[in-house]
Amino acid sequence: MPLFKNLMVVGPGLIGSSILRRARGDGQLAERLIVMDRDIAVLKRVQELGLADHITLDPADAAQADCVILSVPVRAIEPVARSLAPYLQPGTILTDVASVRGELGAIIPSFLPDGVEYVPSHPMAGTEFSGPDAGFAELFEGRWALLIPSLDAPEWACTKIQHFWESCGARTKVLTAEDHDRICAMVSHLPHLLAFTICDTADNLSAEMRSAVLDYAASGFRDFTRIAASDPIMWRDIFSANRDVLLETLERFIQDTQSMADAIRRGDDEAITAKINRGRRIRRTLIHNKQA
Ligand code: NAP
Repeated sequence: MPLFKNLMVVGPGLIGSSILRRARGDGQLAERLIVMDRDIAVLKRVQELGLADHITLDPADAAQADCVILSVPVRAIEPVARSLAPYLQPGTILTDVASVRGELGAIIPSFLPDGVEYVPSHPMAGTEFSGPDAGFAELFEGRWALLIPSLDAPEWACTKIQHFWESCGARTKVLTAEDHDRICAMVSHLPHLLAFTICDTADNLSAEMRSAVLDYAASGFRDFTRIAASDPIMWRDIFSANRDVLLETLERFIQDTQSMADAIRRGDDEAITAKINRGRRIRRTLIHNKQA
């Protein structure tokens, strides 16, 4: 028997449409797929792709669902949840996939009807692409899906969301919101900030130099441009929602950059190679942990 009878995905972008493809392919996740978006053109595309049994612009259709997944940008999670709340039925699980937890865990349960359980989660998987055409069923394979339930979330609901992500191919781990936001600031938000900034620096070079950089882009710069191609609204929301932790992490990074600059300035070969070796060790660990 499928895990959910009526699974509703709100926001069929990269993450939402990957979930829908997985659910379509496997049949174990949901009997029926309901897809909601704010744009009828996006919904029609979802229908063309065969990813929905029912498409809707109407929040009232949330009444049919026994699980609702919010897959919209971070700042849209709360307003979208508020629009659906009056229609959610007791026994329904509400989850989201937002990249920052912030205060969501405290705010969202405060306006949900009794008997509706909020079990937020965050799949640590993505690409630089957006929209319903960008998703693919294998996106979550071998990746972490982090669960961030509140202390009073019932075990049955947490277990269902855990099974949901495991059925998507992910490994699961339960974290607190604070730990989640601190870890993600380091492994995801800071790298994106650096990628956007490096491209900005290249873009600010004189016209002649800029064109040479783009002509001869070596693999290091090219790798940054892949990350920097990510969706601006999504990343604007992530940076502002995780502002304090991100700025703290950035401050540490600036200190470490300064320390590398000092080593280069004084020609301290030992310090330079020690820092580079730490990077190599981290890369080897990621490969060993099958996360590279
Ligand atoms: P996406 O491809 O841009 O899709 C976002 C979806 O949300 C689209 O269907 C979009 O609808 C809808 N949407 C945007 N603004 C909205 C609003 N104000 N109200 C209602 N719907 C709105 O984004 P994504 O990459 O799937 O990201 C979705 C969520 O997953 C975000 O919370 C993000 O933090 C999280 N996440 C992303 C990644 C990643 O690497 N991409 C990884 C893990 C988690 P329209 O098409 O009509 O604009």
